Amino acid sequence: MVVKRLQIIPVEVIVRNLAAGGMAKKLGLKEGTPLSKPVVEYCLKSDALSDPMINDDHIEVLELATKEEMKIIKDTALKINEVLKIFFRERELNLMDFKLEFGKFNGKVILGDEISPDTCRLWDIKTGERLDKDRFRRDLGSVEESYQEVLKRVTGMIN
Ligand code: UDP
Repeated sequence: MVVKRLQIIPVEVIVRNLAAGGMAKKLGLKEGTPLSKPVVEYCLKSDALSDPMINDDHIEVLELATKEEMKIIKDTALKINEVLKIFFRERELNLMDFKLEFGKFNGKVILGDEISPDTCRLWDIKTGERLDKDRFRRDLGSVEESYQEVLKRVTGMIN
């Protein structure tokens, strides 16, 4: 695989279509509550500080990225969301939320992350069954089977 060495911007970009996980907990919303528009959140990548949520102003004053770079990041994240939402919906998966990271290559901001059941919340559209890393984080069992189900739906592969 040919990769580009990026200068990673230490900000986790989270896009949410339905409330779940951290947002549901923080705002007292029931997990699975639809949001009237996608919500974009930013977290500082810092294990020592437990990845605190930050906003555009924090990012600017900490000089993590410029205003112009943040506009590119937000616009790109929302565009990725629109593409992924449709991609997963066609496979009967609800894209609840996901996380992206961006970096700079030759001064240009580009996506620098994987997209997988480790970084997305994916619920079965019909049953609401969780088919992502919450299976092992919440000890729900059938971890491998769930990842294989996502693989099967995404690639059409049957093992
Ligand atoms: N996420 C991630 N890595 C992180 C934090 C979050 O991939 O370090 C993803 C997570 O899988 C979910 C989304 O970002 O799809 C939103 O996560 P949330 O803030 O709800 O936190 P969590 O419930 O994962 O602790």
